[in-house]
Amino acid sequence: MDAKILVALLAIVFLKFFWVVPMWTEGDLKNKISGHFWTRGSADKNRVLVDQLKQYGVIKTKKVAEVMETIDRGLFVPDGNSDYIDSPMPIGYNATISAPHMHGTCLELLKEHLQPGMHALDVGSGSGYLTACFAMMVGLQGRAVGVEHIPELVASSIENVKRSAASSLLNGGSLSLHVAGLNLNGLDFSPPSTCRQEKKMLNGRQGWPEQAPYDAIHVGAAAAKIPQPLLDQLKPGGRMVIPVGSFFQDLQVVDKKLDGSISIRSETSVRYVPLTSRAAQLQGF
Ligand code: SAH
Repeated sequence: MDAKILVALLAIVFLKFFWVVPMWTEGDLKNKISGHFWTRGSADKNRVLVDQLKQYGVIKTKKVAEVMETIDRGLFVPDGNSDYIDSPMPIGYNATISAPHMHGTCLELLKEHLQPGMHALDVGSGSGYLTACFAMMVGLQGRAVGVEHIPELVASSIENVKRSAASSLLNGGSLSLHVAGLNLNGLDFSPPSTCRQEKKMLNGRQGWPEQAPYDAIHVGAAAAKIPQPLLDQLKPGGRMVIPVGSFFQDLQVVDKKLDGSISIRSETSVRYVPLTSRAAQLQGF
């Protein structure tokens, strides 16, 4: 080998290992290795996640980008789980917080029905993330109602929301999270005072008649078929987004026209936990 080339190669090796590397900070190195922004704060990590969803074409509008930037996903993912990756994460009781791309997809599908002052229902509210997004979009004059059949999840979702940008809406009463189908008096833990049960102890499949009709209904668990009470609680002109099926599931978009007729189309194939009974869920379905 030509002596000059050898010297040049040695110089490159020397510079790389003895000069360039020591000048990187630990944070820089982690960034370079993982491609993520480990040293940034949670708001920045959340913004990076939202930017990625914009690049992938999941988030299409400023409105959805803004609400997903404002409601920090990290506050809704239990400690010890990766919060800002595009994947569902366990939240306990055989439930998951949906993947960010599913949250983005559902918000895009529902955004016209989440205008200020409108009413929204989130069945199977789990971590409370989407209910909080709905509440931000419909604002103080609107109503965002979450219904969930695991009381412990309702309790933790209320704590999550309290730490988030939607906390004032919870206090103001335009955001509420409820336990479905259970008598709260028989619990072996104390639910927070904001945890209310429906008078008739309705299951999530039966919706939440108190604040009906709804401009937007989201169902966060897969139904064998679209529950009739949810169709009944949809306002004419309103839209429901619901995963339907068992092993093979479709995300269905259900529009109720102004004359009350219903049109249904499939948006995409999905994989959600089932809309089921509490007992079946706690036994692992
Ligand atoms: N959108 C939520 C999804 C949670 S997973 C999130 O991203 O956090 C689906 C949730 O539906 C689970 O929390 C589960 O407990 C709840 N669920 C299942 N069947 C239900 C029913 N019949 N009534 C109410 N909630 C139900």
